[in-house]
Order: sequence, then C-alpha cells, then structure tokens
Amino acid sequence: MDGVTSVSEAYRQVHLDFHTSPKIEDLAREFNPEEFGETLRRASINSVTVFAKCHHGMSYYNTAVGIKHPALTIDLLGEMVKACRSRGIRVAVYYSVCWDAHAGAEHPEWLQVGLDGSPIRPKPFERPYYGWETLCLNTPYTAYVRGQLEEILRGYDIDGLFLDIVFQRRPGCICRYCRESMESLDMDYANPEDLRSHSRIIETRFMREVYELVKSLRPSSSIYFNGMSSLNMARSAEPYMSHFEIESLPTGPWGYYHFPLYARYLRNFGKPLVGMTARFHASWADFGGLKTVPQLLYEVGRILGHGCAVSIGDQMHPRCFLDAAVYDAIGAAYSVAKLTEVAVQGAEPLHEAAILALPMRRGADRYVFEGEGFGMDDLLAGAVKMLLEERVQFGVIDPWMDFSRYRLLVIPDHGLLDDETRAKLSSYLSAGGKVLLSYRATMEGDEFRCPGLNLRVLGSDKYDVDFIRPEPVIGDGLPKGFDIAMYGSGVYCEIVGGTILARVREPYFRRSYREYSSHTYTPAARTTAYPAIALSEEQNVIYIYSMIFAAYYRYGYSLYRKLVRNCINLLLGERLVTADAPSSTEAYLWVKDSSYVLHVVNYSPMRVGRHPEYMDEYYPPSRVRLRVKIGWEPRRVVSLITGKTHSYAWRDGHVEFEIEEIPVYDAIVIESR
Ligand SMILES: [Zn+2]
Repeated sequence: MDGVTSVSEAYRQVHLDFHTSPKIEDLAREFNPEEFGETLRRASINSVTVFAKCHHGMSYYNTAVGIKHPALTIDLLGEMVKACRSRGIRVAVYYSVCWDAHAGAEHPEWLQVGLDGSPIRPKPFERPYYGWETLCLNTPYTAYVRGQLEEILRGYDIDGLFLDIVFQRRPGCICRYCRESMESLDMDYANPEDLRSHSRIIETRFMREVYELVKSLRPSSSIYFNGMSSLNMARSAEPYMSHFEIESLPTGPWGYYHFPLYARYLRNFGKPLVGMTARFHASWADFGGLKTVPQLLYEVGRILGHGCAVSIGDQMHPRCFLDAAVYDAIGAAYSVAKLTEVAVQGAEPLHEAAILALPMRRGADRYVFEGEGFGMDDLLAGAVKMLLEERVQFGVIDPWMDFSRYRLLVIPDHGLLDDETRAKLSSYLSAGGKVLLSYRATMEGDEFRCPGLNLRVLGSDKYDVDFIRPEPVIGDGLPKGFDIAMYGSGVYCEIVGGTILARVREPYFRRSYREYSSHTYTPAARTTAYPAIALSEEQNVIYIYSMIFAAYYRYGYSLYRKLVRNCINLLLGERLVTADAPSSTEAYLWVKDSSYVLHVVNYSPMRVGRHPEYMDEYYPPSRVRLRVKIGWEPRRVVSLITGKTHSYAWRDGHVEFEIEEIPVYDAIVIESR
C-alpha cells in the first residue's frame, strides 16, 4: 500500500501519549487493531507516534531488557505498528529516556542528583503531586536504554524514533558517576560553568551513541531527541537529529508565542520541522479536555503557515480505544490541512526582518539562553508577539547565522555582543542593514557596543515607572502630548551624535515608603535631556531606552507596539505585507516556485479568566484589505481553502485585494504568470 514514510511528507500526524500506571489492571481491554487503524485513517492522519516505553518505565512490547506493563497480555506496539502499516500510515515510536519511574525506583544510583546532593525524584508531600524519577545519562542506565532501542529497531517495522526527555538538569548532575567523570576531565563540580559544559558532553555522547545505533540497524528511520531543541541546545544536538519536532501546546505552559519563536529559529538549520500542539483544552493528559474545532484549526493553520508538518497530541485511554469525539475534531482540522499542505512543501519564507537573540552571559560554549521558562524569555516572547501582530515578515537568528538576508535586525532588551559579532554587525550596517535595539541590548559598563550608536550611559533604572512623550515623526497612532508610562524604567544616556525622537519624562520621585503620591507610581513632572528614542547619525540604528519588548509581553500595552511599529516603519520604509485587519490576524508570506503564498490565520479572542486562552466560537472579520509587495503583476489571486478567486489591483509593485470574510485559516496563492 502506498503511504508516507518520510517525516517531511507527513503533514498530518498524531502524537499518541500513553503513560499508564502499573496499578491499572484492565490495560488494553478494549483494544481493537482494526478500529484503531480505521479511526486514524478516517481522520486523514498519515503518521502516528505510538509508544514503546512510558514515563512510568512500563514497556508495551515484549521486552527482555525492561519490564512489560504487568496487565498487558498482547504485544500492543506490534499490533499498532501492523494496523498503521497496512493502511499506509507512517509509524514512529515513542520512548521515554530520562523519566522512568520503574528504573529509578529499582536503581536509585542511576538518578540525576541536584546541587543539594539529593536525587531528582517526586516529592511525596508536594501538592499537586507531580513528577517522575529523573535518570542520569552518565550511568549504566544508558546501556538499558540502548538495549531496549535495539529490541525495538530489530523487532518492528518502524519509520522513526521519538526519544523524549533527553537532557541533564541544568546546571548539571553530581551523581557518583558524574563526579568521577568530571574529575577525570579535570572539571570542577563546584563550578556551574563546568557543570553546564559537562551536561552538554554527556548529552552529546548519548545522542551520538543512539544515532549510530539507529543508523546501523535502520538507516532510513527518522530520529528526534525531545528536550534538545532550545535556542541553546539545537546547535549541539542538530547533527544527531533527522528533523526538529517542536513540542508546544499553546494552552499548556508554552503559550501562543513559543511555537513561532522556535519554528522561526529552527528553520535556519534546513531540516524538516514538525510543530506539535494537542487536542486537550489545557495540557498533556487532560483526558476529558477537548479543543473547539476553530481553535484546533487555528493552531493547525499556524503550524502549516510556519512551514511545518503538524502533529496533534492525544493520549489514549488505558483500555486502548481512541475517542471518536477527539478524532472527529482532528479530522475536521486535517481535512482543511489537506488543501494547503501542497503550498507548504518546498516553499521558502520571505523575510524583511529578524530577531537577533544574543547571548545573555559570557561562557566557554556557544549558547543564548540557558533553558529557563521553556527556553523562552519575556523579551523574546514580547518581540515575537509584537512582530506577529504587526505582520512583519521575520525570522529568528543567533549571532552565528547570516545577517545579510534581512533588511532589519531587532535586538530586544538584553544581550552581549562579542568582538566577532560586533564586526559582523558593523559590516551588516555598512552594507545598508538597519538595527532596532532597546534597553540593555549590547550594553557593557557605560558603553553600547552596537556600532553606529553614539550614546554614553549615565545611569539606569532610576524609577519604577517613567515616561515617553514621542515627537511627531514617531507619533503615528499615538495620543498627542501624552506621557506614555514605561513600566520598569530604563537606561539614561547622553546623546553624543544622532537625533532624539522622544525624550524621557521623569516622575516627581520614585515611590517608596518615605515618599509616595497616590496609589501606584508618581506622574510625570519634567522633560529630561535623556533620549527615550534615539536615531543614529547614519539613520540606520534606532535605540529605545526601556525594556519595551519584555514589558509588552508582561503588560500588553498597545502603545508599546505602536511605538515599535513606528520605529520599524521609519527604518524599513516599505513593508512586505500590510492589512487593515485586527492585530489577531497574522499573515506569513512564502514563495513557492515563482508564486507567492500568504497564510492568514485569525484568532477570535475572548476574555480570559483563570483558565487557558481559548477560542469559543469564531466570528470572521469582514472586508479585510491586504497589500503584498511582490514586484510582478500576478495572473490570479486564489484562496486554497474556499477556492475563491479575488479581484485585485496592481500598483507600485504591490498587489491589493479584499477578502470578504477572513476564515480561521486560509492560504492565498498569488500566482505568477
Ligand atoms: Zn549523573
């Protein structure tokens, strides 16, 4: 039977979780391989990740190395693989690595040990009770893992491996094995930098060994190590992975800005990308939580619009039936995906800007952030949120990537510029590039290291809140003569060369218990000489004094977005895509063959209580005008989902058209002649 075997062709995937306590006694009691396969097929799924071993450490196949779930009487993995194979559905196998409750309980000496000397394992009195035994990749446990992977690779006709929870907790493990190996490497386990480097060595060795095993036994198999795709880890892990799978459940702890950040960063490595969301109302194992179809379709459209294959997470009931309601919702979303995936395959994104993520600390190794908050700091999330809402066509890069593909680089709030990157940035600016930076980005001591920026630092963070009053050149859409509160203060500078586009307005005084006025911060009292927004002499660098990107993520004050938009427009002049649509309408421009594809997704927000953000019902914005810079007159403009052709106007190198009603997701092809 024809079917998809490569991960890069499998646009409609399901990631089937299955973490099942050994205390559940009726495991697989309702498993029916025919029904299992047919449910997947009916929902248009062409790839599924099934499970070999879960976080409980239970295996779901006949293993001689590990322990099979005590209630399992069949070879569940084998049955699932056969059911998919016979229907042309690609099969990848899930295996939990560092979380294994069984192995951790049997072999406490294999556990990762924290800096307080205690093993990383569940805390019995923690509420809510959560957590797993976390095993160290520097112990004999890795032989156990390799033994099981060999059983799976030899025993089953599979297309891929998904290895979950592959990382040493930062800064590092100080178990007996790790202390011994650090001593042999002349490393000091009291030094956090040495611990971090050691963690990377351990992880890389594990990935290399598993990669070689997979390549020797099943060379065509895809392989992915989950946990290793953060901005820091992608570079060291990339040689051992066939593709990246971005686990990012927007209604779980990741939120709606994690996925675009990672998709736009990881696409620089030139490997296939899979974007993973889930069907749950909240996060993993929310068995009775189901997204609305519009919301699921929004997430699927957003993933496809980022050039990724889609994977929707589900968790099977212990009795091993697939919920009809879940697969109805997935099927509805995938019936739409089927219409646009043709426009995704082989397409290239068009960019006008990039977010440049700079390292936050000096270190021996190349890294940007050290994996806090799901590898996403507020400043990056805020920058992604702003640029998406403004429909800027942007990528995300680190200092070792090519700058020349972008007309503008945005350096949000923080980051260090070493000599090499400074020289690179200098040539980029000389070649006509533009830079927008804020707060402490490239600042060291009293100096900004960003070339072209002629500012001398006098002090910073004097107040809890101070104010911007923009000049007209930067004031489009902003209230005139109004003091915009900048939550979190900023850096005060003397301008040596260039133009001031807005000045800092100071409050009467900083609020404290000794002096305060009214309920919160003190209002603006006077204009200072400090630039709030400064334009360089060469007019190619704009500096904003406050942590405007992180503050936008935290407070969502729309005037911050307008300020940044005005700065971007001043630097870029023309933009690739403009639309008179709400900020909830995102648009991503791609080129495929010689035609352009504009993916448009639209979220119908509702008020959020103490619950995940979700879309209840969908009400489309109407009569939205879009304008795309293309440089050639198109043959026709057509929506892939509705099949409608749109009448358009062609002027000044731009195509302009109106969409009567914007659906949750559409892909509009602007066809070349
Ligand atoms: Zn260890």
